[in-house]
Amino acid sequence: MAEAGFYFVGTANEPDLARCYYCRRELDGWEPTDVPWDEHKRRECPYISLNKTPQDITVEEAFNLEAERQCALLKKAADTVVGKFREHGQEQKQKIEDLGCVKQKRARRKKRY
Ligand SMILES: [Zn+2]
Repeated sequence: MAEAGFYFVGTANEPDLARCYYCRRELDGWEPTDVPWDEHKRRECPYISLNKTPQDITVEEAFNLEAERQCALLKKAADTVVGKFREHGQEQKQKIEDLGCVKQKRARRKKRY
């Protein structure tokens, strides 16, 4: 598992969850016949793209992989912030629409009298 870039992040609910150190992808539901490298190859990953074992990676490649890893971490953090911002925007939009409904109901009531 480690040679394929994975480390254990399992929990009680996901006892076989593993995460790639470089691309941060998580895989679970491992079968006894699964080959970690082959499972990892199904997704884009800078470490897998090198097609080297950890022992064969040069210092320059290690630095480049670390840069890719930092980019993946930043992207994930940015996605979280964007998601929260969108959620907040939807809540504000709903509040504005609700206010519009209240004002329209008040306007209709006033016209009746
Ligand atoms: Zn990976």
